[in-house]
Amino acid sequence: MISKRIQKAMEGNSAIRAMFVEGKAMAAKYGAEHVYDFSLGNPATPAPAAVNDAIRELLAEADAAGPAGSLALHGYMENSGYGEVRAAIAENLNRRFRTTFDAHNLIMTVGAAGGLNIIFKTILDPGDEVIVFAPFFGEYRQYAANFGASLVVAASDPDTFQPDADELAKKITPRTKALIVNTPNNPTGVIYRPDTMRRIAEILEQKQREYGTDIYLVSDEPYRELVYDGKKEDFLTAYYANTIVGYSFSKSLSLPGERIGYVAVPDEAADAEDLIRGMEISNRTLGFVNAPSLIQKAVARCLDEKPDVAFYDENRRMLYEGLTKSGFTCIRPDGAFYLWVKSPVSDEKAFVEEGKKLRILMVPGSSFGCPGYVRLAYCVSHETVRHSLPAFEELAKVYGLQKG
Ligand code: PLP
Repeated sequence: MISKRIQKAMEGNSAIRAMFVEGKAMAAKYGAEHVYDFSLGNPATPAPAAVNDAIRELLAEADAAGPAGSLALHGYMENSGYGEVRAAIAENLNRRFRTTFDAHNLIMTVGAAGGLNIIFKTILDPGDEVIVFAPFFGEYRQYAANFGASLVVAASDPDTFQPDADELAKKITPRTKALIVNTPNNPTGVIYRPDTMRRIAEILEQKQREYGTDIYLVSDEPYRELVYDGKKEDFLTAYYANTIVGYSFSKSLSLPGERIGYVAVPDEAADAEDLIRGMEISNRTLGFVNAPSLIQKAVARCLDEKPDVAFYDENRRMLYEGLTKSGFTCIRPDGAFYLWVKSPVSDEKAFVEEGKKLRILMVPGSSFGCPGYVRLAYCVSHETVRHSLPAFEELAKVYGLQKG
C-alpha cells in the first residue's frame, strides 16, 4: 500500500506531464508534423557546441591523467559541489551583476527543482507558509508540501500579470517563511519591473520588522538569460538582502536532462552561514548527495554561453502576432518561452479540449493556479509554430472571435 501523501499527489498529478504523454500518442497516430504540441517547456535548441566540447575535453583530460584522473572526475566530492566550479560561477556572477560571491556562497544542485527542495528543506517547518503570485509553476505546491508547509497564493495584476504588491502585504503572516518569485515568468513570460521588485522588497522588510521574523525571497531563475528586445537580465539580491537565488542550466544551456543548477546565498542574508551549511546537509539527506560531477565541470567551462534567444524570439513573434490576429487575447511575453492566452470561455479546460480536436495541445491555467487562461510553450520548431497558425484561426472561429 502506498502512502496517503503519494495517493493524493497522484490524484493531482501534473496536467503538463499528462499532456506530454497525450502529445506523443497523437504524434504516433497523425504524424508529428500534424500535431501542434505546446505542452512542455523542453528547449527546442540544442546545447551550445561548447558544452559537448567541454565534456569531450574533460574525458580526454581524465584519460590522459590515468586512473587518478578518472577517480577525480567521477568521484564523490563535497555535498555542495566542486570548489573550483563554485568559484568559477561566483566570479561569473560578480562580473555580470556586481555581486560579491565566492565559492562558499554557492551550492551546486540537481537542477532548479533540486535547488528549491534543498532551500525549502532548510528553511521550512511543518505549518509554515510560502507565498507565491498566481499564476505560478505548479510544482511549487508539491515542493512546499514535501516539508509540511503550505503554499499561499497572492494575485497578480489581471491586466499586466505583474505581481500585486498590496495583495502580498495582505497574505504575509507570522508563519510566512518565504516568497517565491520567478522572473522571467513561467507561465506568463512577464518580467517583473524594477519598481515592482522595489515595492515587494519594501513590503517584505516592513513585515519582517512588524513580526520580528526573517522572510526569504526565493528567486527561481531558470529563465534569467531568456529575455527579448534587449531587456536587461536582473539579479534580485540587489533589491533585498534576504534573497536566495536558485538557478538552473536546464533552459539557458538546453540541458534539462542533465539536472544541473545552483543555489546562491549572499553573505548579507539572515543566518547565511547556517543556510549554506543546512543546504549542504539537505542536498545529502534528500538523496541528491551532490550535483552530477561531469556536467558540473562542463558548465563551469561554458558560463559565458548564451541561449539561442533569436530562435525563441522568432517563435514568440509568429505566435503572438498569429494569435492576436485571429482574435485571441495574449500577454506579450518579454522573456522565457511561454505565451499566456486568455481562454475565450471561462472554463479553460473545455477550451483545451476544443484545441485538441484541432491537434493543438495547450496547458490549462488551473495547472498554474490561474483558471481562465492557457499556456503555450513555444520552445518548439519554427515549422510547428507556422503550421499551427491556421489551426488557431479555426479554433478562433469556433468561438466567433473577431479577427484583429
Ligand atoms: N522553476 C520553473 C519556473 C520552471 O519552469 C522549471 C522547469 O520548467 C523548474 C523550476 C524546474 O527546472 P529544472 O529542470 O532545472 O529542475
